[in-house]
Amino acid sequence: MTPGDEEIRAAVFAWLERESGRNDGLFSWAGLHGGFRLPDGRRLPLVSQMGIWCPKVCDAALSIRTAAPKPNQPPPYEDSFDEGAGLLRYRYRGADPEAWDNRRLREAMTRGKPLVWLVGVRPGIYLAEWPVAIVGDHPGALTFEVQLLRGLELPRREALGEDSAVRRYVSAKRYARLHQRAFRERVLAAYREQCAFCRLGHRELLDAAHIVPDSEGGEPVVPNGLSLCKLHHAAFDGLFIGVHPDRRVIEVQRRIREEEDGPMLEHGLKLLHGKRIHQPRSRVARPDHRFLETRFERFRAVRLAS
Ligand SMILES: [Zn+2]
Repeated sequence: MTPGDEEIRAAVFAWLERESGRNDGLFSWAGLHGGFRLPDGRRLPLVSQMGIWCPKVCDAALSIRTAAPKPNQPPPYEDSFDEGAGLLRYRYRGADPEAWDNRRLREAMTRGKPLVWLVGVRPGIYLAEWPVAIVGDHPGALTFEVQLLRGLELPRREALGEDSAVRRYVSAKRYARLHQRAFRERVLAAYREQCAFCRLGHRELLDAAHIVPDSEGGEPVVPNGLSLCKLHHAAFDGLFIGVHPDRRVIEVQRRIREEEDGPMLEHGLKLLHGKRIHQPRSRVARPDHRFLETRFERFRAVRLAS
């Protein structure tokens, strides 16, 4: 028997849940396009070449997609998130509000159908966010408004008005998480999953560090990031270690270099002094000179004070 639209969406969400546990939350284009088999044996892809995907078996759009941004642009570059409103503004495909795919997405709004939002973190690799709801449509601005509803209990998701403060808050929180996650993945990929200081290559032990911190307006773009192991992330944030902006050489504070202790201090910190950092192959992904300079000035101020 052919499953109905509601059953299909539930099966899609269950599949995403299972798969995300298996692949650290990352989905490949091939995996999404291959999709899975419905109870009646038919294969259901979760994406198509079009940004808005509505399979024949569904009554309205099932997924929307945002392409991976370029390394020096914040994700997602063409669909913007309004944090105050807790809303993603998702661009129409093309400029015709009545185009087939824009109509299918509008139907998801009018029929109250939950969807999946796929966010490109790098070419061919996506993070998935579900359920999301289309809550507004602005043909004049060629945009839909989308809320992220994961974590909201089902009755609240449906019973609360679209504009409730709870929904906006949940949506903004989910987006912030997704945004951080996308930054991490893009930085780690640029550094081929190695620490920029010691080349440690286990992703479980790596962080995407901000060069100019988040709290000081540092943007989550790859040229403001460094892939660092946990030790070196903490040492960099604690200004134990600095990176010379011109020479791209690591400097360790003198007081650390003069300390005597076991192998962790020796190999983990002291021996880094004077070594060049390991940088991405792609020039646009390398640390931006201005960001390194800002950070290095702070490192130098500590050095002068001690
Ligand atoms: Zn390291």
